[in-house]
Amino acid sequence: MSIPDLTLNDGRSIPQLGFGVFKVDPAETERIVTDALEAGYRHIDTAAVYRNEEGVGRAIAASGIPRDELFVTTKLWNDRRGADDTRAAMGESLEKLGLSHVDLYLIHWPTPAAGSPVETWETLAALRDEGLATSIGVSNFDERYLPEILATGIIPAVDQIELHPQFQQRPAVSLAAEHDIKIEAWGPLGQGKVDYSGGAIGEIAERLGVSWAQVVIAWHLASGRIVFPKSNRRERMEENLAGAAVQLTAADVAAIDALDTGAAGRVASDPAEVS
Ligand code: NAD
Repeated sequence: MSIPDLTLNDGRSIPQLGFGVFKVDPAETERIVTDALEAGYRHIDTAAVYRNEEGVGRAIAASGIPRDELFVTTKLWNDRRGADDTRAAMGESLEKLGLSHVDLYLIHWPTPAAGSPVETWETLAALRDEGLATSIGVSNFDERYLPEILATGIIPAVDQIELHPQFQQRPAVSLAAEHDIKIEAWGPLGQGKVDYSGGAIGEIAERLGVSWAQVVIAWHLASGRIVFPKSNRRERMEENLAGAAVQLTAADVAAIDALDTGAAGRVASDPAEVS
């Protein structure tokens, strides 16, 4: 299965379809990530708060896959802020992953109650310049929070936000596009909380003889977004990877675009309320 690469605004490439490990049990992570690597994934999205970086690292080490063929993302958790703590947290993540650098390091949430993220963001830029992260970005920084980051003049390579057919975050997506910031869509399938198997998506899936999840993945990819759907099950890992081969028409993409319900479509936390 050939997975397209996208070029980030810092010139680096990222596999557009990867594998996410949110809520993957730390005790099962090594096996599940090993399955994902065997299925063909080369991009893994984890975070310090998932408490499974060690399992990701063990699976990578055991895989024998050359480091430069893998793309690994992790994220700074909300209780680590400021220069010293950010540096310490990144060191801990690298140690757990068993890596000398990650491909992408993100501030996980804006945490507005904790004050300005600028010092933390400038520290990520320093860590990138030192080679500990190849690219840096933010997560959950929608149009309310991205401007303060942009004002530093250090432009994130990506913004990782909740995004699926009923919640398309158009204001954040258009602000990011103005700065050539790629959108990584988390919860790309609606986290199992939305039934996307019927309606326009179901009709497209039936016409093409593919699953609803493959149609949604193909829609994200056709729209230029990066996704890393999660599944503990090998057959679904393979199904989701095969979503990269599904060809949608412009009318199919438009039909799914039309499913956006704006702010009402959110199924997870509002960044304003996460501390
Ligand atoms: P998702 O939309 O990928 O949904 C995962 C769920 O969808 C699975 O648990 C499974 O129940 C179901 N599923 C997966 N494949 C399926 C298939 N082929 N058919 C039917 N159902 C299927 O949600 P997610 O895991 O929350 O998001 C993906 C990744 O995004 C995470 O693993 C994590 O890496 C990242 N993420 C980031 C943040 C953030 O704040 N930055 C938050 C949540 C998730």
